[in-house]
Amino acid sequence: MRRPVDETHDPARTSWVASANGHRDFPVQNLPYGIFSPAGEAARAGVAIGDAILDLRACAAAGLLPATAREACRDDTLNVLMALATADRATLRQRLSTILSDPAMEGMAAPLLHDSAACAMHLPARIGDYTDFYVGIHHANNVGRQFRPDNPLLPNYKYVPIGYHGRASSVRVSGEPAVRPRGQRKPPEAGAPRFEATQRLDYELELGVWIGEGNALGTSIAIGDAERHIAGLSLFNDWSARDFQAWEYQPLGPFLAKNFHSTVSPWVVTTEALAPFRVAQPSRPEGDPAPLPYLWDADDQAHGALDLTLEVFLLTAAMRAAGAAPVRLSRGPATSMYWTLAQIVTHHASNGCNLNPGDLLGTGTISAATREGFGSLLELTTGGRDPVALPNGEQRGFLEDGDEIILRASADADGFVPIGFGECRAIILPAR
Ligand code: MN
Repeated sequence: MRRPVDETHDPARTSWVASANGHRDFPVQNLPYGIFSPAGEAARAGVAIGDAILDLRACAAAGLLPATAREACRDDTLNVLMALATADRATLRQRLSTILSDPAMEGMAAPLLHDSAACAMHLPARIGDYTDFYVGIHHANNVGRQFRPDNPLLPNYKYVPIGYHGRASSVRVSGEPAVRPRGQRKPPEAGAPRFEATQRLDYELELGVWIGEGNALGTSIAIGDAERHIAGLSLFNDWSARDFQAWEYQPLGPFLAKNFHSTVSPWVVTTEALAPFRVAQPSRPEGDPAPLPYLWDADDQAHGALDLTLEVFLLTAAMRAAGAAPVRLSRGPATSMYWTLAQIVTHHASNGCNLNPGDLLGTGTISAATREGFGSLLELTTGGRDPVALPNGEQRGFLEDGDEIILRASADADGFVPIGFGECRAIILPAR
């Protein structure tokens, strides 16, 4: 079941933190959790509010938080907070909304704020396991056409939410540079592969799904229960070396093309905050099979999709040197997912696989039906054949050293204050 809309979403509610009112990402209606450290101090949990961060550990110490959330807010990761029961999560959110909107709370809470610009952000959770899915139907079609022109979508796609187990320890927080990987690549004209730096480095625009309450090994998660196991969402960039990928992916799927680095945004936008932005899962095209019963839930079909707008920006070294703003490469909706978040969670646990609090699921690249919303360079440039022309005269087939990719997302709905995710960004360093 999706979370309810309540007074924490009230568009009339404002914050005594002035920068929060009208903030593109973090108005008082959002309240995302993250792990931050003020300059020279230890990491701790916080809530983003405008251009500031409210120190949750200090709030707990000051007795400002509900008893059920106090311990979770004292950790230096969000794993325990993510696993809080639904009712306790809602109570904490309501309390934080009151603290940050009630002018009577300003005297007590203002000393617990930090300027975001002076803080370092860390991974939100200890990620025990990371799995990447492939739910972007347009991405699957576009990529499938390049790898297998006669057979773009394999016959299992419309029955199985396709995924693979990725590497948790190379998932890094936004801002940490990614080093261009070396690996085996075999250009079509070459008789044998060579070991060298990738020449087809790409990004993938994805959402990251944080698991809240887990399930024990040997048990599964009913589709009607799956939303309860999702703590929130971040932006996720699944960096990909397309030349390695094309050579290595059969028969076991992605490996070194993907596991050298993945970037996740630091703020966890909760499923509570996203409640007003839930929309119906788009109906499947005529002739597609219905999901098998274990993946079918009427409420999930009615509210399981997210009305988000996703954007990708590029800042090249030359643009940075010239003081130019990042250029937008794409903009599209998050509704072109063939499977809902609940369906990928349920499918993942359907064989008894145990999900744990703080596990991360990538949705897979989310591309729109049309070019302006394609979520990777592989698609935007048709495998590098049609480079993107940048305003300063540069061109990009794939990424070059010094390029920085920035992902953004915003949620907007009539009658509600829009919220955003902050940035997911990283720069490419030369191969070592
Ligand atoms: Mn991916």
